[in-house]
Amino acid sequence: MNAADRTPALVLVLNAGSSSLKYQLLEPDSGTVTADGLVERIGEQTSIITHEQDGGQIVEELHLPDHQAAIAKALELFAAKGTDLADANLCAVGHRVVHGGRSLYRPTLIDQHVIDEVARLAPLAPLHNPPNLVGIEAAQALLPDVPGVAVFDTGFFHDLPDASARYAIDRELSDKYALRRYGFHGTSHDYVSHAAAAYLGLDYEKTNQIVAHLGNGASMSAIRDGRAVDTSMGMTPLEGLVMGTRGGDIDPGLLFHLNRVVGMSVDEIDQLLNKQSGLKGLCGENDFRAVTEMIEAGDDNAREAYDIYIHRLRGYFGAYLVELGRTDVISFTAGVGENAAGVRADSLAGLEAFGIEIDPERNAVRSSDARVISTDASRTTVLVVETNEELEIARQAQAVVSAGAHSA
Ligand code: ADP
Repeated sequence: MNAADRTPALVLVLNAGSSSLKYQLLEPDSGTVTADGLVERIGEQTSIITHEQDGGQIVEELHLPDHQAAIAKALELFAAKGTDLADANLCAVGHRVVHGGRSLYRPTLIDQHVIDEVARLAPLAPLHNPPNLVGIEAAQALLPDVPGVAVFDTGFFHDLPDASARYAIDRELSDKYALRRYGFHGTSHDYVSHAAAAYLGLDYEKTNQIVAHLGNGASMSAIRDGRAVDTSMGMTPLEGLVMGTRGGDIDPGLLFHLNRVVGMSVDEIDQLLNKQSGLKGLCGENDFRAVTEMIEAGDDNAREAYDIYIHRLRGYFGAYLVELGRTDVISFTAGVGENAAGVRADSLAGLEAFGIEIDPERNAVRSSDARVISTDASRTTVLVVETNEELEIARQAQAVVSAGAHSA
């Protein structure tokens, strides 16, 4: 064994959006994060890179024409901080890929077939898969000796039962065009549900769980005996809960009306539903903290936005509690779920008859550790669990690479 083999393996996790790139360098075994970065406004006149390493932060404004330039700049900043990634014990680059369709769901070593497949699936996730691919190709160009692993946001929901995955529309049409519920945020639901079972010392395969991932995007999942059986997001991330800028469930008839009566084009409706709806559409702010401040200042629209947000959440809790029958654990996660005690209390208030009772004092505790917020008498244990999608991607990427190394 040489010295490099003894240093803990590192994974570079990349999450490439249309004009942004998030990256993290971490040790999957310990979870230790070496560096964290965000590049914004890629392709615009002035891009911004924020790189954090060793307790210090570098912020630079410069023109980064594309994702390859953004990754090259990140590598330069790593080197400036004394970490030459070409020389570090980097075992994989883990890529968040949003849509794997029906064919790609397990974390997968990236080869030409995977690239072609992710490109073929682009119509199912036009805002996400193309930039994910650009990230993959840029990493291949800059770190050609490091294997890339794709981890799919849809993967955790691959085995949804047909009753929850299939839309009640013409069967031939949905089969021909692969129209079904795929679900998203799978890496987070996977990580949090495993962390919840581990924290409570429960056997994952025998535990029934609900996970509420409430961030800018929001989704809920129902997990029976360790298998995802339902999720609020659909063929695209537009379905389900009220989110920052997406409204979630809506009568499709409203869209015909917007087109035929209001005269909006399909692209305008797309923009409306993806960018101008949800909390933003209802009260002008998509950031939950800003909405909370508006409520405190007496803004009626913000109050109503909150009420709609909670109403939808309770509807999904109700559906999933009935679907699961026995629910052992409910976990709240992501920015809102981890921090907004009021949302947790309001969305599960008055459910004592269902065996759910929140303890106000426990719920008020602020901590980054997993914690119970239900009373000891509550039949369902309610938790707050911090999500960590990067760590999950890093672990899955490392597992794929080491399985390949062992079978080789
Ligand atoms: P994403 O990863 O989907 O971009 P996050 O999981 O970071 O989102 O969640 C972002 C959301 O969490 C924002 O709406 C933000 O306002 C909200 N949030 C963060 N901190 C708090 C807090 N202390 N109280 C209420 N909401 C918060």
